[in-house]
Amino acid sequence: MSEAAGATAEQMEFQAEVGRLLDLMVHSVYSEKEVFLRELISNASDACDKLRYAALTDTALASEATDFKISIQPNKADRTVTITDNGIGMSREDMVANLGTIARSGTAAFVEQLSGDEKKDANLIGQFGVGFYSAFMVAERVNVVSRKAGESVAHAWESDGRGSFSISPAEREATGTTITLHLREDDGEFLEGYRLRSIIKTYSDHIAIPVALVEESAEGEEAKEPETVNAASALWTRPKSEITDEQYKEFYHHVGHAFDEPYHTIHWRAEGTIEYSALLFLPGAKPFDLFHPDRKNALKLYVRRVYITEGVEDLLPGWLRFLKGVVDSEDLPLNLSREMLQNNPVVRQIRNGLTRRVVSELTTKAEKEPEEFVGFWENFGAVIKEGLYEDQANKDALLKLSRFRSTKRDGWISLAEYVEGMAENQTAIYTIAGDDIDALKRSPQLEGFAAKGVEVLLLTDPVDEFWTSTVQEFGGKPFKSATRAGDDLSQIKAADAPEKDEAEPEGAIGNVIAAFKLALGEAVKDVRVSDRLTDSACCLVADENDMDLHLERMMRHHGQKVERAPRILELNPRHTLVKRLSEKLEGGEAVDAAEDYAFLLLDQARIVEGEPLPDPTAFAQRMARVMEGSVG
Ligand code: ADP
Ligand code: MG
Repeated sequence: MSEAAGATAEQMEFQAEVGRLLDLMVHSVYSEKEVFLRELISNASDACDKLRYAALTDTALASEATDFKISIQPNKADRTVTITDNGIGMSREDMVANLGTIARSGTAAFVEQLSGDEKKDANLIGQFGVGFYSAFMVAERVNVVSRKAGESVAHAWESDGRGSFSISPAEREATGTTITLHLREDDGEFLEGYRLRSIIKTYSDHIAIPVALVEESAEGEEAKEPETVNAASALWTRPKSEITDEQYKEFYHHVGHAFDEPYHTIHWRAEGTIEYSALLFLPGAKPFDLFHPDRKNALKLYVRRVYITEGVEDLLPGWLRFLKGVVDSEDLPLNLSREMLQNNPVVRQIRNGLTRRVVSELTTKAEKEPEEFVGFWENFGAVIKEGLYEDQANKDALLKLSRFRSTKRDGWISLAEYVEGMAENQTAIYTIAGDDIDALKRSPQLEGFAAKGVEVLLLTDPVDEFWTSTVQEFGGKPFKSATRAGDDLSQIKAADAPEKDEAEPEGAIGNVIAAFKLALGEAVKDVRVSDRLTDSACCLVADENDMDLHLERMMRHHGQKVERAPRILELNPRHTLVKRLSEKLEGGEAVDAAEDYAFLLLDQARIVEGEPLPDPTAFAQRMARVMEGSVG
């Protein structure tokens, strides 16, 4: 077909990422090449779903949207396998966009991350999947002829997967798509009927549209009848007892465009005031675009077995946007526009039902298989925590599910475990927020907590700043930042430290404090004696009602204008530097140098905190003066 239309064929380049991907496909060392068929059948099924839905609102398409089927036809003489569907088809523009670029944000990002190590990358691809382009794992040339529903012209797309493709006008009798794979030398196995039948059974049994194998007849024999290989009924309508784990998994791959093993599968039918079936999957791997702003949920909405749309925001709370699967409603009208889905009471009820069910399943998982649950939490905890401030109804359940890293233990702990391990007289749940867990662990503000054996939760997800400022408490214990002023620590008895340590030389460094206050003026809110330091000379803390240090930094980083609240500088009265300075001031020495010391210590505290210095030149000059003094 494309040969005939060669005169008007237009040659076009693949998008760079596609080029890289195809290069890997062509040289693929990935062992499960057979998945190419799953991908092409999955696309054919999607195309049929789309046409069925389009015909609901566009009556002109109704005559084309019948008897959906997918057929697979091997041809040994030509060494080809042909996959045909009567779905929605593609226009010329569709072909350029869908078969020349990578539309999905996550996939493009994924390709950018590839290491260049062929073996490793091929393995990754196996896990990640690449849809249509996987055809090039088995084909040296791929030809696609397609006619879009409602159009009278067809187009042929052809490529050998080496950097470019051609598009030319073509003939096709009816709406739909025909994909012809010209198999490579080594891939003759895919011409065998038994092999194709077994692949379809394994990977595509759940496809709701009949997939027929059209085998060649041997010479002289009568033509063979097409044979429907799959079960061809919507998987979620079948009883649970008749569905194997393997079938659920393959359905997850199809419906979620996913390639990992689901962490958990939830399949039920809700009956009562509203009726729906739901088949939901909690992914086993973290998608690359989890935090991409355009990311929508991957939940498909069906109405009485007819595919309507996917990514309906009102159908799932944002904090469950990683969930994949299908919801099939009995109560919504079929001719449903996206607008009608907004503020729709049925949709809202379904959403509540789905959310409640997922939360309760997760609660059970967390109790029964705590270790696996932690793996899941590592992938999706940062998203689920958005629910702590967005979803009042589920806040308490989500707090119980939440897992944290802490200063005292290596693994993840729950809030209940934290509370159980609280020190005598400890009344608050202490947290510290930052970007990096190791840097956080070294924070000077934590020294006193460590000395008293008080555990502090280490918060490193940006979302932590938001929920900690709205969620007040857990089990009657308020959350409190360890970088906030307060005399909390002096109230708590040290776990193993001797009592007398408490009455340290508080008053003795009063002269240092006074000199520093004078020198620093407006640069700080206050200078105080610290009870949270043991090794460091000083640190910064936020006043009780001021914004947390890390939050302020984060907001500035995101381009928001926030006033820089002056901080409190805390000094360690037990630190040699502070003690010696106090002695010198006592003896009337070092009075002039006090200003340099004050600013140097303040800047030092800022550096440790990860704050930029407001005046690096002044810092360098002061540092040089002090060093000169000690050299001289
Ligand atoms: P995905 O299925 O994840 O979107 P693919 O790489 O498998 O990605 O397919 C890319 C796109 O090409 C599809 O989204 C669809 O728009 C189009 N496409 C592929 N196969 C067909 C087909 N048989 N009929 C119509 N469109 C198709
Ligand atoms: Mg696909």
